[in-house]
Amino acid sequence: MREEFLPFARPDIGEAEVQEVVETLRSGWITTGPKTQEFERAFADAVGASHAVALSSCTAAMHLALEALGLQPGDEVITTPYTFAATAEVIRYFDARPVFVDVRPDDLTIDPDGVAEAVTERTRAILPVHIAGLPAEMDALAAVAERHDLPIVEDAAHAFPTRYRGRTVGSLSTATCFSFYATKTLTTGEGGMLTTEDAELAARCRSMALHGLSQDAWKRYDQGGSWFYEIVAPGFKYNLSDLASALGLVQLRRSESMAERRREIAARYHDAFADEPALQPPHDREDATHAWHLYMLRLNLDRLDVARDRFIDLLTERRIGSSVHFIPLHVHPYYRETYGYRPEDFPVAHGEYLREISLPIHSRMTDGDVEDVVEAVLETAHAHGRVQRVSG
Ligand SMILES: *Cc1c(COP(=O)(O)O)cnc(C)c1O
Repeated sequence: MREEFLPFARPDIGEAEVQEVVETLRSGWITTGPKTQEFERAFADAVGASHAVALSSCTAAMHLALEALGLQPGDEVITTPYTFAATAEVIRYFDARPVFVDVRPDDLTIDPDGVAEAVTERTRAILPVHIAGLPAEMDALAAVAERHDLPIVEDAAHAFPTRYRGRTVGSLSTATCFSFYATKTLTTGEGGMLTTEDAELAARCRSMALHGLSQDAWKRYDQGGSWFYEIVAPGFKYNLSDLASALGLVQLRRSESMAERRREIAARYHDAFADEPALQPPHDREDATHAWHLYMLRLNLDRLDVARDRFIDLLTERRIGSSVHFIPLHVHPYYRETYGYRPEDFPVAHGEYLREISLPIHSRMTDGDVEDVVEAVLETAHAHGRVQRVSG
């Protein structure tokens, strides 16, 4: 058994990141400035987008995208209940309604047929989530969006770098929102990025991220800048600092090798678990490149004499960290009480949540770490396996 606890997630920060941040600290410019501009350009290039706006979080990016689209109280935005708090709270910021559509049982992305059925007169946007780093069915969603002239705003918090049918997530829709939170595939500690093809939308988000000030107000303390600015709207404070962007620039350069390491780990897990009847490895798709932000294993509970929570405790006893993604939004007190949901209203999201375990999958894991996870999961499954008896 391992001596040291293997954490579920751990940022992959090397000496190059440390150097770049220290240089920025010494440069005399630490908030939004030249490093952030460089990070935006490099990120836009990486995903093939025309515009990238660096922000303090993915939550901020989604909030600003919906603001730029003019979301109003009473409007509806179609999204998935199988996600993190941020995806729906940004809709509630406007006193608008998140309309949940259940996910598909195989890949846990939002069901495009359900989305088509959920569209009403009040629908203003579709907000899919690329869960674990696997893209939602974007072509089918785009067809629904086009039919009703709706924008798509993507929650791509898990989806860097991800490809869908040969195209890069970040270049597919009206606005794409990435997260650089500490556990994500590229981190700046806290941070996010909005990408878009729409110059006007980008400009609105950039201004609203900095108090609704007029263009380029961040330069007001620099030599080439001006002290003059105008407040054009009551904005927010969502800009990303140069310290964070310095970290992001180095992470971006390393993103392909970090992604490759996560793909290797996913492949090893898949090989190890594919033939075990108590385990269902996560779905992958031919038409996509998975970012493997999460490795969402599912337990076949009828093949086990323990439930998911106990399985997690048994892994913890073996010093393997794990997590659960996600407690569906509609079972949380706020959404239950506000909209009267019951767990069975979105039966796939709720059912899959009950049997899901996310295993560690980060690029700093050694081969030994990966084998420790494999061994702990397989031995726990064997020790608690239940043979299915065929009756009759
Ligand atoms: C992490 C996460 C977010 C929020 O990202 P922040 O950068 O922390 O705001 C949004 N959606 C999903 C699905 C996430 O996992």
